[in-house]
Amino acid sequence: MSQQSKAGLYLHVPFCPSKCGYCDFFSVSVEESDATGFAQHLEAELQLRLRSWSGGFRTAFIGGGTPTMLPPDEIAHLLTQIQKVTADDELLEFTIEANPGTVDVEKAKVFVSGGVDRVSLGGQSFFPQELKALDRQHGPEEISQAIQLLRDQGIRRVNLDLIFGIPGQTMDSWRESLNRAIDLGVDHLSCYALTYEAGTRLTAARDAGRIAPCGESNEADMYLMMLDVLSDAGYEQYEISNFAKPNEQCQHNLIYWNNGPYVGVGPSAAGCFNDRRYRNVESINAYVKKVDDGVLPEAESENLDRETIITEMVMMQLRTTRGLSLDAFRDRVGSDPLVRFAPVISKLTCLQLIRANDSHIALTRSGLMVADSIMADLLAARIA
Ligand code: SF4
Repeated sequence: MSQQSKAGLYLHVPFCPSKCGYCDFFSVSVEESDATGFAQHLEAELQLRLRSWSGGFRTAFIGGGTPTMLPPDEIAHLLTQIQKVTADDELLEFTIEANPGTVDVEKAKVFVSGGVDRVSLGGQSFFPQELKALDRQHGPEEISQAIQLLRDQGIRRVNLDLIFGIPGQTMDSWRESLNRAIDLGVDHLSCYALTYEAGTRLTAARDAGRIAPCGESNEADMYLMMLDVLSDAGYEQYEISNFAKPNEQCQHNLIYWNNGPYVGVGPSAAGCFNDRRYRNVESINAYVKKVDDGVLPEAESENLDRETIITEMVMMQLRTTRGLSLDAFRDRVGSDPLVRFAPVISKLTCLQLIRANDSHIALTRSGLMVADSIMADLLAARIA
């Protein structure tokens, strides 16, 4: 089995200390639902999934939620199960997500002995008032403490998530957050614009006029400034929102962006392999019951037809700075994307929004700013 054809394994742990105001991920506060014993249900679903996936694993990623809300012995047990399942694979990367303030020495030791070699930390900002606007439970100083603690235990690879476009954030405070992250020496940064998702407290506050959004023009300026600051600091942009020091790209997320196979486990988790895509139920009770009954806990699934595969390849691969691989497209779809998208490629190239060479079609710096509309243009103009 080639390394390329192996899957990414994702496990979703849906517990958080409390719900952040902007969050629309499936997660519940630990006060609402007891996390004890949850890991064994993830293990049970993983065994069910292995009945239809025998292709091995390239990466593992435990996300959430806040996986570090599980007790240390449950994290240890879960990691042991993953190590067993991936014993015949040489994992390129084993990541766990954590929030500052939820990692301690005991848990970091558990990570290391369980094979974790990368931690993705939700930092978001280095300014207390901005963290407060997001309803985050930690302060700026806990970000650096968590990174130091992880390094002391031997975890070298750390990603830091940051958010721009926070109400009250300025160009100066955003630059300062980026510089603080750079000074901490993390090898990877994921920097997303704040989005106002339906049904969140933040969106309700905006709609009621209690907070003033940053504004699209300010966000665009923040994005462009970020590209320059991170490039000057030696981070290479490899996806619209992701930046890495040389050779430190997130291999797990690259599987998604390159349309590779992935097996998702846990409430709300999605998976896609053998040209079939599924999403699990968004309810801990329904999830636990189905898994206990030996049934796949899916809310929906579909077999991918050719047109869906084309859409997925354009939507995911164009996110990367490398772009849509012409060879991968020809192999999977059986036609040439330069022909299929011919009507719009010349227009977008003239507008300097995309560039095409003999191996890839990719977004330019200007194109990165309007990625969604470029993808929509390409897909609308395709020739059957
Ligand atoms: S910690 Fe992350 S997953 Fe949990 S509520 Fe906040 S944003 Fe959502």
